[in-house]
Amino acid sequence: MTPIYILIGIAAICFFLWTYKPVKKKPVELTGPDNDILANHVRYYQRLDDAGKQRFREKVGSFLANVRIEGVGATIEERDRIYVAASAVIPIFGFPEWEYRNLTDVLIYPDTFNTDYQFEGNNRSILGMVGSGPMNGKMILSQRALREGFEVTNDKNNTAIHEFVHLLDKSDGSVDGIPENLLAHQYTIPWLNLMKEQIEEIRKNRSDINPYGASDKSEFFAVISEYFFERPELLKEKHPDLYEYLEMIFKQDPAVS
Ligand SMILES: [Zn+2]
Repeated sequence: MTPIYILIGIAAICFFLWTYKPVKKKPVELTGPDNDILANHVRYYQRLDDAGKQRFREKVGSFLANVRIEGVGATIEERDRIYVAASAVIPIFGFPEWEYRNLTDVLIYPDTFNTDYQFEGNNRSILGMVGSGPMNGKMILSQRALREGFEVTNDKNNTAIHEFVHLLDKSDGSVDGIPENLLAHQYTIPWLNLMKEQIEEIRKNRSDINPYGASDKSEFFAVISEYFFERPELLKEKHPDLYEYLEMIFKQDPAVS
């Protein structure tokens, strides 16, 4: 028979695991130069009113306090840290309570890398990645792509936002282009159909959406979200139906009309 103290021990461990929540650290206070980076380079931030800006800075500070950002063969500057945090905050700004529970580290590589996380040699084509398996909880970003996402404003690309949207998509257990805990159930099928239609348009070369979005539905969702946050007015004008769904999914309307 199992001794009683072992049973009590097991019960205590179960209780601890059941009630355990990681301690959330106090938000980092942003400095004047940090605020300047937001004001000068983060278009999304520029569009917010004063109260919105204040809330955005708090979210950025909270992200920086709770997620490690490290360079791997790259020297990290303050703007890189602010850009990473801004990319994390933008897609979840419509959900005041949201925390990235499935993320502990963001690793910054100098440039593109391959699927073995090497950044030298052949097949260096990946700009960003959400880790799985042993890399679970980690995100990798190319420093060049991260900076271009914010410093080049006339395209529809933002690699870091793309990766954070994958994380959001993953929060229901599967990366499939359907953020089930964000989209009401009755809209799932129409959203799937709309994505399918739009992917067909890309494949027929009749779309202004980044062709990478035709890879599969999860990539379509990430690519169209970049477009939504980078060029909201243009998306609203060219694809009002997609805009409407993204507005519903992200609970925000970034276009200034
Ligand atoms: Zn992707």
